Amino acid sequence: MSSTGTRSTEKARYIIVTGGVLSGLGKGIITASIGNVLVSHGYRVSPVKIDPYINIDAGTMRPTEHGEVWVTPDGGETDQDLGNYERFMDIDIDKDHNITTGQVYLTVIQKERNLEYDGKNVEVIPHIPQEVQKRISTIAERESSDFVLVEIGGTVGDYQSVLFLEAARQMKLEGKEVVFVHVVYLPIPGNVGEMKTKPAQHSVRELNAAGIQPDFIVARSSVPVDEVRKEKLSLFCNVAKDSVISAPDLTSIYQSPVRLEEQDFVRKILKKFGLNYGRSPMLEKWKRFVKNIDKCEDEVRIGIIGKYFDIGDFSLEDSYISVIEAVKHACWSSSAKPKISWIDSKCYEKESARLKELSSYDGIIIPGGFGSSGVEGKIAAIRYARENNIPFLGLCYGLQLAVVEYARDVCGLKGANTTEIDKKAAYPVIDILPEQKKNIEASNYGATMRLGACPAILREGTIVRKLYGKKEITERHRHRYEVNPDYIELLEKNGLVFSGRSPDRRLMEYIELPGHSFFCATQAHPEFSSRPMKPNPMFNGFIKACLKR
Ligand code: GLN
Repeated sequence: MSSTGTRSTEKARYIIVTGGVLSGLGKGIITASIGNVLVSHGYRVSPVKIDPYINIDAGTMRPTEHGEVWVTPDGGETDQDLGNYERFMDIDIDKDHNITTGQVYLTVIQKERNLEYDGKNVEVIPHIPQEVQKRISTIAERESSDFVLVEIGGTVGDYQSVLFLEAARQMKLEGKEVVFVHVVYLPIPGNVGEMKTKPAQHSVRELNAAGIQPDFIVARSSVPVDEVRKEKLSLFCNVAKDSVISAPDLTSIYQSPVRLEEQDFVRKILKKFGLNYGRSPMLEKWKRFVKNIDKCEDEVRIGIIGKYFDIGDFSLEDSYISVIEAVKHACWSSSAKPKISWIDSKCYEKESARLKELSSYDGIIIPGGFGSSGVEGKIAAIRYARENNIPFLGLCYGLQLAVVEYARDVCGLKGANTTEIDKKAAYPVIDILPEQKKNIEASNYGATMRLGACPAILREGTIVRKLYGKKEITERHRHRYEVNPDYIELLEKNGLVFSGRSPDRRLMEYIELPGHSFFCATQAHPEFSSRPMKPNPMFNGFIKACLKR
């Protein structure tokens, strides 16, 4: 899918973004920001993320290792950068926009087995880069893209990125219109106190060795890049001085398109393609939105109770990035600013007296999760929120555990559980979907969940129906377990409201408790559909309830 741009051209143009010096320097945000400006000017943009790993998708990766698994509308489990693209460009992106080494090799090997290479020797060069190119142009054709924005993951110089750089080099060689943007980092070593360009120079040399000359250098650093450093980069990296773009650290990632625009970055890119643009009302709107972020004053204290804490604090933001962004979007739309605290649910298992601290939050969120670790702590926290009228938002596992808690503590079903944790639970209130049983038995875990956008029908007169303002909605899903239909009647009799179901009424999608400050949960992941200027209704309702507290 791509943006609803108006200026469809016959041939796509390609902007290829590479990164040098170090990983995690914000290449994804730079790529998303270029996309934001292009979309704002009415262009159809198709962003593509290339990940140089053997995994077919991110679904089988640990969030603490790779960050959040992003779910696409068509059920892909992809790199989280697609989330940034969706948020910055306000478009839905399908799973084939995330290309991995594993996908490319798998296709080439399958084609070879199917005799699709006419008896030729199938080799890494040219067949692997050819397959990469084919995937990119398939998207461009299908979406009639004005621009395809390709971000090559990893760092230039890494052995595993070479074949993707080769594909990019060949694209230009074959006459496609390509502009290369290389994002580098300029460190300021503490003992020297001076911004250094040498690592960036070397990374450009690595790129040159792969046959690619960057058209632009985006220089990330803690502070803006001065003229002296720009001149140096220009001279040693063979790019015009005004093609060196400064990208200092920002207080909000959403400022990035604005900062790049101040340097006419995208205009300069378009100039290379022989294009230009005028004023964009959409961009003006974005600028106002960014300005307003700084004006938000009321603080909302949110406790997110999770478990992906095992490799230190640095993993947190990445494991739950879409939840965090959705909280921010909803807060900003109420002119409030979020203060998020991370709570390791295991602490409530060791020390139940600590649950009292939850009263100091304006609301709590139990996000998605898997497995037994910390689950009893989460259930205890849900009980505390329910009994003490603290706004609670449950996402996927959050819904399932809220149902377990309700069954145990309100319906009196001692020993109620999800069969994900206790296969022999006395009351399996959450159970595996019949269609998932065979996958588990065959240890077949990759891409076998209920995945992607699924519709739900919201019941008249409920909180969620009011929040969404319509009867039928869709949100993205990623789970194997469901509310067991055998227990619905009992749960309902005891006051739990199933406020949204799948259209065939078999699957419970939303629950809520009337009379509570806010006690709502969904089997879906509404965080994936939240956009900066269009916050998700569930998050909106939750934050509004938090602000009332
Ligand atoms: N572990 C649960 C399931 O598989 C919930 C998954 C989630 O929270 N995404 O159904």
